[in-house]
Amino acid sequence: MPVSTSKPIKIEKLTPRQPYGLTVVITGNGKGKTTSAMGMALRASGHGLKTCIIQFMKGDLYTGEWDGVKMLGELVELHATGMGFCGIQGNPYTHAEHRASAQAAVALARKKIASGDFQIVILDEINNALKLKLVDLEQVLDLVKGKPSFMHLVMTGRDAHPDVVELADTVSEVREIKHAYQKDIEPQPGIDY
Ligand code: ATP
Ligand code: MG
Repeated sequence: MPVSTSKPIKIEKLTPRQPYGLTVVITGNGKGKTTSAMGMALRASGHGLKTCIIQFMKGDLYTGEWDGVKMLGELVELHATGMGFCGIQGNPYTHAEHRASAQAAVALARKKIASGDFQIVILDEINNALKLKLVDLEQVLDLVKGKPSFMHLVMTGRDAHPDVVELADTVSEVREIKHAYQKDIEPQPGIDY
């Protein structure tokens, strides 16, 4: 049992008087957007809530959460639907190919949201997918407006669209103060991927 609480005090578990399905956006140019969303899945699992994570664009480079979420058992499922970041140097796929996989991810998101099986759906990097025109603004707005009222929807990625920000309940912008890459330090497993 690696968790300990130091003092023998009574632990309270709050229950909201009014359950509410939040729309949360994590954007900005600093590090911490995807990991924030993964943190919500981890936290939710402690409450026995089920989370579905759909990652846009990711799929070609291993990242620890793919296996990490397996430790949370049946409470979290993750779909990495992409073919890498569209337009970055070295990525061999065309815009049309990236768009096709992002469109499949939107269809999957619709299905998972409508299933009623999940209390939380995380659409990781969907903001970038919208910015890169791999998905359309109307599609994202429809996902938000069409979600079950008690289901939480979390969307991450840089350059969140102002209309999505407007619809959301909670929006955080992660601002880069510095990043190790500026000192030519390679991405490190566990922290960066
Ligand atoms: P993380 O997945 O670590 O929470 P993120 O989701 O905020 O990061 P992304 O823009 O999705 O950031 O980038 C993912 C990868 O790029 C991570 O390895 C992260 O460390 C790295 N990264 C994030 N922000 C920056 C930055 N400002 N400059 C360079 N690399 C970054
Ligand atoms: Mg990210």
